[in-house]
Parts: sequence; structure tokens; C-alpha cells
Amino acid sequence: MSTLLVKNSYTLVTMDDERREIKNGAIFVRDNVVEQVGTSETLPPTADKVLDLKGRHIVLPGLINTHHHFFQTLTRAVPAAQNCDLFHWLQTLYPIWSKLTDQGGSMSVGESAGGLPPNALVEKESDILKDSQRLIEQYHNNNRHAMTRLVLAPCSPFSVSPALMRESAAMARSYPGVRLHTHLAENKSDVDYSLSTFGLSPGDYAESVG
Ligand SMILES: [Zn+2]
Repeated sequence: MSTLLVKNSYTLVTMDDERREIKNGAIFVRDNVVEQVGTSETLPPTADKVLDLKGRHIVLPGLINTHHHFFQTLTRAVPAAQNCDLFHWLQTLYPIWSKLTDQGGSMSVGESAGGLPPNALVEKESDILKDSQRLIEQYHNNNRHAMTRLVLAPCSPFSVSPALMRESAAMARSYPGVRLHTHLAENKSDVDYSLSTFGLSPGDYAESVG
């Protein structure tokens, strides 16, 4: 059992039923569970760990991060990728990102198979599925208030096959609490890609792969 007190926030945004915003707010947390919120004067004066925000910060409920694009900020100033649409931006920067260690989801359909990413950047679908399963079994925690749950991410209709979309959805469903997401209908070229490749709008395509 461990407790945490976050006190003296400039404003505490509760997002409760009354949408209360508490000036000089505080939160008392026990084992990852918020136990009390209120003004700093009305909450327990101390805890195992105390964070004094000194009236300078706004505290709001945590957002669930299903995936991030942080690594792409490293290449935001590449001249050839300025002022262009999504597909040109991706095609210009994929070769640079391929030298990094992480990507925003699994990709299996390279250029030679009609996809957008370079062949060197895609992986075998059986490897993707095997590794997804390994990660779920190693890190996914479906207990109440757990802080690590996994979300599978077949990257987009233009970088994975319908089979991988389908298999990923089936795998996510087979583990309680594991979710699935992808990029969909990001712009007109993406919608056109779905229409010409699958004969379906992005929404109908997503429906068709489960
Ligand atoms: Zn994304």
C-alpha cells in the first residue's frame, strides 16, 4: 500500500458529473486509485509521496495513450516534407524513420505489394502476430486499475493487408482487455486508396475486416 498526495494545484479539473474545477485543488491516491479530491485544505495533509504544485499547475484526468508520434518530431523540419499531403510526407520520411528503432504500429505491405512504405520497412505478418502475442503475454495487465494494457495497431489500410487487420482483431478479442486501433480515412488520398484497392470506403473496409 502506498499513498500519493498532489496538492496546491492552480486548478484541479475533475471531469466528474458536475464538471467541478477546484481552485487550489488536491488529489489523494492510494495504490493507483484516486480516493479523494478537494481543496488542499480539506485533504489529508501528507502521504508517502507528496507533490506540491505551488499553485502553478493545472491537473486533469490522465489520457490513455494508445500510440504516439514523438519520433516524428525529429524530422518535422525536413525541407522535402514541408507543405505536402500525408502520402508524400510519409514517403519522404519513411526512409529516415527506417533508421530509427520504433514505428507507430505494425506494417506488412510494402511498395512492391501495392502499399505505401518502402519494402525495407515492412515485416512478415507471421512475425508481427507472434510478437504481438509475446508482448500481450509479457506486459498486458487486465486487473482493475492496472497501468499497462495493450492495444494492437495494424498501422493503416495502406500499410497492412486485410488478413493482418483481421488476424489482429481476432487476437485482440481473444485476450480480455486487449484493444485494437488503426489509422483510418486520414485524408482524401487515404479514402481514394481504400476505394481503389478494396472497393470500399474506409469505414466499410474496417467493418469488413472485423
Ligand atoms: Zn498515429
